[in-house]
Amino acid sequence: MLKIEKLNVYRGYIHANIDISLEIKKGEMVGIFGSNGAGKTTLLQSIMGLVPVESGSIYYNGLEITAFPPYKIARLGIGYVPEDRRLIGELRVKENILIPCWGKKVSQRVKFNTFEEIFPGIKKLYGKSAEFCSGGEQMLIAIFRALSSGPEFLLLDECFEGLGGVARESWKEYLSQERKNGLSGLITESNRAFLTWCDKLYQIERGILKPL
Ligand code: ATP
Repeated sequence: MLKIEKLNVYRGYIHANIDISLEIKKGEMVGIFGSNGAGKTTLLQSIMGLVPVESGSIYYNGLEITAFPPYKIARLGIGYVPEDRRLIGELRVKENILIPCWGKKVSQRVKFNTFEEIFPGIKKLYGKSAEFCSGGEQMLIAIFRALSSGPEFLLLDECFEGLGGVARESWKEYLSQERKNGLSGLITESNRAFLTWCDKLYQIERGILKPL
């Protein structure tokens, strides 16, 4: 489903991803853990087309997407949850969640009742401006935004770290179930304990990825 071959990415003078190769099959959830500055965000951003790739290739379902802009990558069915959430603070929670559906001109695929099963408290937040939500609530909104248009593949940047304990457990439960329906994902965390349920686990250190 997602295949990365010898990926090299620089942030200024820093060689942030060094010869990274990785393959994720349909229905697989792969975890990468690493300390701050190890290169996790850079890897997800380069898959999403948000930072330029120096060399190497990224394929999604056999199509080379290495030089694709982010909007084209999103339209292929890849959903992204950035570590810093990137919500539009002035918009209400429900509007933030629906942005990908409007952008891709598709109807909502994962419905609000599913979000309410993951986190019942979301119901009372729908009408609130996103900027007035707590950090944990904002992380959930970013997750639900990534899900709303029905992605087949998720890129999750330290989202477990940003959630409260109950939401963390039900989000993990949701992902574990959905991989049986073919949902795949690449999940980065600095805390290895959040990734024990993943199908494969890697460690990234100073830009180098090692299988565990
Ligand atoms: P964190 O958990 O702190 O987000 P990370 O594992 O996601 O860390 P990256 O954010 O990918 O790591 O950073 C990899 C390297 O690239 C680090 O040395 C970091 O300082 C550098 N870096 C990241 N973003 C930028 C940027 N916008 N400009 C310059 N250097 C950057």
